[in-house]
Amino acid sequence: MTYAPDRELHLTHDAERGYWHFVLYIEPPGACGSALNATQQFDPGPSPYAAEWLNRLQRCDPDALHVTLVGSNEAQALWHPCVYEDPDSPSAVAQDGCVCWQTFRDPVTWLPVTAHHYRTVTGNIENWQYRTYAPLSLPDGERLEALIIDREPHMFWIRSSSGRLHVMPEQTGAGYSCGYHGGGPVQLASMIDKIVASDGYDVAAEPSSRTRPSERVLAWVSSEAADRTQELTLNQLKILTRTGMVG
Ligand SMILES: [Zn+2]
Repeated sequence: MTYAPDRELHLTHDAERGYWHFVLYIEPPGACGSALNATQQFDPGPSPYAAEWLNRLQRCDPDALHVTLVGSNEAQALWHPCVYEDPDSPSAVAQDGCVCWQTFRDPVTWLPVTAHHYRTVTGNIENWQYRTYAPLSLPDGERLEALIIDREPHMFWIRSSSGRLHVMPEQTGAGYSCGYHGGGPVQLASMIDKIVASDGYDVAAEPSSRTRPSERVLAWVSSEAADRTQELTLNQLKILTRTGMVG
């Protein structure tokens, strides 16, 4: 598929409402957006994988891709500072609480990331929820080193041959899961089959339920054994497809 961006900024005036609609435009190196890439939302909690991934993000100004992540109702708040930077921010609550959004970019994939801050006044409750898009494949030429099931934030990660961590490639409408019988485990088992068949080179996202996975892999993925935080190397995935166990 060739991505053909529209290079013009279209402004249309809505006479009834009295404002101009406009299109925020950005030209990322590859096609990306909510129609293609699956949205991921997670609370990193104590996950070392989430911490590693978050650590490489670069803070940046909000752009059109961040707006697609949060939707039009929250779009304006992307430009509001955090209470820590400005106690009088429109996103601050009584100069101490906060409901701000911060924007980042993954420098490896260029995918947008938003962080939503929730802090009650006095700080009794404080957390950050992250949102991003899953990539559609690993960067060109990279191969899978390990597939990581990360139960705490309910994320699936891929460690590639460059040593870097990626959200597991996923198309919108698909979704991975494990530890029960359902569509999520079927999607994960199909991905494992594909990774093994390609010797770790094909980790591209597939549309939902395109292929039926092997019964051995599906049985393990649907079982309790899969439902805990663990790293599966390419070799363990190969053993899984042969024996139904990860060794
Ligand atoms: Zn804040």
